[in-house]
Amino acid sequence: MKRSITTTLFLTTLLLSIPLVCTRAQQCEHLVFIGLDGWGSYSLEHSSGTALHTWLRQSTYTLEKRSVLPSSSAVNWATMFMGASPEIHGYTEWGSQTPEIPSREINRHGIFPSVFSILREAEPEAEIGCLYEWDGIKYLIDTLSVSYHALAADYTRHPARLCEMAEQYILAKKPRLTAVIFDNPDHIGHTEGHDTPAYYAKLEELATYVDRIVEATRAAGIHDETIFILTSDHGGIEKGHGGKTLQELRTPFLIWGKGVKASYQLSENMAQYDVAPPWRSYWGSLLHRYGQEKPWQNSSSETERKYFPENQERKMGCIYSCRNAKGAAICLPAPFTDLIQEISGVYQITIKN
Ligand SMILES: [Zn+2]
Repeated sequence: MKRSITTTLFLTTLLLSIPLVCTRAQQCEHLVFIGLDGWGSYSLEHSSGTALHTWLRQSTYTLEKRSVLPSSSAVNWATMFMGASPEIHGYTEWGSQTPEIPSREINRHGIFPSVFSILREAEPEAEIGCLYEWDGIKYLIDTLSVSYHALAADYTRHPARLCEMAEQYILAKKPRLTAVIFDNPDHIGHTEGHDTPAYYAKLEELATYVDRIVEATRAAGIHDETIFILTSDHGGIEKGHGGKTLQELRTPFLIWGKGVKASYQLSENMAQYDVAPPWRSYWGSLLHRYGQEKPWQNSSSETERKYFPENQERKMGCIYSCRNAKGAAICLPAPFTDLIQEISGVYQITIKN
């Protein structure tokens, strides 16, 4: 394909700028992960102008992330935290506390590696916290790897308790990684029904908690060095979930903060296990360590490495990858890959190895 000099210069400039963007993003110091149990993508399409749409406009996002089957809680939270499919990590049910299938590999704590344990191994002193309303979460996070984990009990009577706990924790500890998992709107979905006025009212309430948690990072002085992820385990239909409808399977994924594009819709496919890699990618040192030591490679055979290089890249902390003319892969965090893929669809990317 013949290109004009102008186009070539434009692409060259664009490509040269990408590593700088990535570097900035990867130097992010803090990550806050907020999970809303039972939050289906349909809710953002069936309503407009809600508080959660405000975050959508500030995010790189997709409404097309798909939960793994069954579209239930534990299996999907485990898949997010562990970055692997249920057949690999072994947690397969709504309330799994131990894997029903033996995990393909285990870490020194005897549990499948997760974003929590990988960060702990990379940074023994890092402050890592997980706060939650559903007791079932603690079986999925490798509690020996976190600095602090706590249950906000009785959230029907004290709906703001988890938010308050998160605010206090962030202010006191300025954690490297904070995971805050609300058990709503799932609870309202089961009692009042999905896609109902009560469900939307609960989402509006949850949006105020998201705002408060973000404000807590500001008060703690870490906001500008923080990346936020807001997502969900599954949606729901009528008063349930676990099935195979898109209303149960489509879940939002929003990522915003330092270095992340605003109001940018990802076009790639995204599965539940794709939620974990960006957590790793945004910690530069972690990504570096990951790339250097390649712990996952130890568990993969030469044959796997040879025939499934894409899997290998995923395991190494890349959510998506594309290849240059020599076949060498480049790995980028999700928000930047649309740009690359748009270009690579037309032109070959040349990158000095
Ligand atoms: Zn759930």
